[in-house]
Amino acid sequence: MLNLVTDEDKSVSLMSLSELLAWENRMFYLNQTLSYPLYLKEVTQYLRQVLAEDKFSFLEACLKQRPRKIAVYPGSFDPFHKGHLSILLKAEALFDKVVIAVGINPQKMASEADFRVQNLKEILKDREVLGYQGYLTDFLATLQYETTIIRGLRNGYDLEYELNQLRFIEDMSQKDINLCFIPCDREFSYLSSTALRNMQKIAGEKEKLYLPKSFRDKGIREKIS
Ligand code: ADP
Repeated sequence: MLNLVTDEDKSVSLMSLSELLAWENRMFYLNQTLSYPLYLKEVTQYLRQVLAEDKFSFLEACLKQRPRKIAVYPGSFDPFHKGHLSILLKAEALFDKVVIAVGINPQKMASEADFRVQNLKEILKDREVLGYQGYLTDFLATLQYETTIIRGLRNGYDLEYELNQLRFIEDMSQKDINLCFIPCDREFSYLSSTALRNMQKIAGEKEKLYLPKSFRDKGIREKIS
């Protein structure tokens, strides 16, 4: 569950308040695969056990008053390509955490959907990757925390499409929607999953050129150190 593997774990009880804040920050980035509510619950439980009452109350208040900024990056990601990755990295520079939400087409086989989510978990190590079926708004309502939706834009056509989608999302949502459009890098502006799926049908595996290799994201690593 909660990953507490750091050199300092033994001495958490002896840390000053500022050290404790820095420690919690590291824990947050080390535990990105956990859902945020579960992370909060587990880290609070741990701190309650090891800290003196006054320090624990201080830290608990900080965690409550300064919730992390969490975004959700939804998509079919069929397949997840380098253009998707570049948007994810840009979003991670803006938010404390980005949850990748893989939209599952109910008409596709469950095993295929599972494979896509599992595969993405392997590619995007250290991140929370979730699958969802049905409407994005219903999925967001299950998360129990404030989020911002991330969408990537390749061009003006994408913008027009995404604005229409946003209006539907607003109609369906019980609460205000936060949305962040991120323009893609020039080099990925022609990439699409549809084009790569078409390439997959032809022998030669040329589509692999556009797929990210399994990697550990430097962005998150830098935040830890
Ligand atoms: P959808 O969510 O419409 O099924 P995708 O899974 O292909 O579409 O894309 C998910 C998100 O990634 C969308 O916000 C889309 O605009 C964005 N995206 C798609 N292709 C690129 C690209 N080449 N560069 C940057 N962003 C992209």
